[in-house]
Amino acid sequence: MCAKKIMNPDEWVKQVVKQEEIDKYLIDGKDFIDEELINKQLSENKDPDKQKIRDILQKSLNIERLEPEETAALLNVTDPKMWEEMFEMALKVKRKVYDNRIVFFAPLYCANLCVNSCKYCGFRKENKEEKRRILTMDEIREETKAVVAEGHKRMIAVYGEHPSTAVDYICDSIKAIYSVKEKSKDGTVSGEIRRVNINAAPMSIADLKKLNAAGIGTYQVFQETYHKETYKKVHPAGVKANYRWRLYALHRAMEAGVDDVATGVLFGLANWRFEVMGLLYHAIDLERQFGVGPHTISFPRMTPAIGSDLSKESKFLVSDENTKKLAAILRLSVPYTGIIITAREEPEIKKEIIKVGCTQTDASSRIGIGAYTEALKKLAEHQGDQTDCKQQFTLGDTRSLDAVIREMAEMGMITSFCTAGYRCGRTGDKIMGLLKSCTEGKFCKLNAVLTFREYLEDYASAETKAVGEKVLAKELKEIEAMEFYKKGNLLEKFKENYNRICNGERDIFI
Ligand code: SAM
Ligand code: SF4
Repeated sequence: MCAKKIMNPDEWVKQVVKQEEIDKYLIDGKDFIDEELINKQLSENKDPDKQKIRDILQKSLNIERLEPEETAALLNVTDPKMWEEMFEMALKVKRKVYDNRIVFFAPLYCANLCVNSCKYCGFRKENKEEKRRILTMDEIREETKAVVAEGHKRMIAVYGEHPSTAVDYICDSIKAIYSVKEKSKDGTVSGEIRRVNINAAPMSIADLKKLNAAGIGTYQVFQETYHKETYKKVHPAGVKANYRWRLYALHRAMEAGVDDVATGVLFGLANWRFEVMGLLYHAIDLERQFGVGPHTISFPRMTPAIGSDLSKESKFLVSDENTKKLAAILRLSVPYTGIIITAREEPEIKKEIIKVGCTQTDASSRIGIGAYTEALKKLAEHQGDQTDCKQQFTLGDTRSLDAVIREMAEMGMITSFCTAGYRCGRTGDKIMGLLKSCTEGKFCKLNAVLTFREYLEDYASAETKAVGEKVLAKELKEIEAMEFYKKGNLLEKFKENYNRICNGERDIFI
């Protein structure tokens, strides 16, 4: 087979953006970020009275998305007691939609070649300290095996933006990840990735259709900052310099049939209150144009990256306290949307923020290229598990999946590796409708129990198993008592599936 000819990167950059795939989503030539309006809403909703805030909280509890003026009012609360009420309500809202579940995933960095110049990122093209590498499909399978060996079932594959790792490479890598099937002695497939999400650059509709056909789960693109002047400053060159190409990446994905999309902000680049408003406007515009908002929102905080002064010295770095506040406001503003907290956060603060309504997190993450395999090699050679792989930025939580799951179980939360919604066609507007009516959560509860049972059987340490069994026993009792499950034969079906898993079958869901 002859190798595919890769275009010169400088030439390639010039042909990525398709202007007509931006213009078609503009309204009267304008995008959905009106900075003047956002600033006005933030300044006009200062010192909100308590009753107004409580009315807004009630609206969140009714699982209704907030209007920008309402989110602006929440962002302006100064009374510490009122913040406590807001934190409590955020958790209540999360419980109502998602119960006490937390979904785990692992990132897989496939390549770090990049044509862009993002001032906060270790992968930017000017960074000569970064060793560039593209994993081969065999290496991707090896990395996947290492991730699967921890017990993960969901992965997010991550890529720089470069002609050598453009859409065809991404499609091949997705297939390579799905191809890994680890079998137990009796031949049952017990280890595999059942959902591959991707975090990659914005693409054209034609390329997104290819990704969809390759079976991606969620397509995640962070806007980084909604503040246009800041965006320009921190993305001085490359494809990423085009704000609107990125702003409409998820619109194009929806149009291409990828109906689970995810956004986020890299907090620390601009004023955090402004960014929360930007995220809300993004969700509103997706809802307006496609009937469904983002599946998840992430709020990564910028952490130190090699050779990036900005990542260490930005005047907009967000404190722990404000990060907790913004996470709670996101939960309250888009009550039915998944909220992801990443391993960039240190364990203590992560634990604190999860309590205000996060639904997903990564664990045992390694963000160097080839880092999972290298860590295993080092362990085998008794040299610890620290790798020499250069990372894109710094992680705050490097604990094992087992340790993080145990901590969650001690907090009364159940870990879920459920991927059923996606495989049963409960995605996009279907899943959003079910989440809004708090129905999806009920299916998820059953599937969380089934996948947690699998994890405890196959991967948990004795300590984690002991705490996990207590959580499972409580969940099983609740399921038995809930009227919803008594309808039809849902409860019987669940019990049958649970027993089948206890007897060694795997990947059974409702
Ligand atoms: N190249 C693709 C892009 O930029 O969309 C995706 C991959 S990039 C490796 C994934 C995300 O990492 C970026 O969207 C950015 O938000 C985040 N990131 C970059 N530098 C960071 C830093 N110093 N601290 C925390 N997160 C960072
Ligand atoms: Fe490249 Fe993404 Fe890093 Fe920017 S954030 S330099 S686009 S990998």
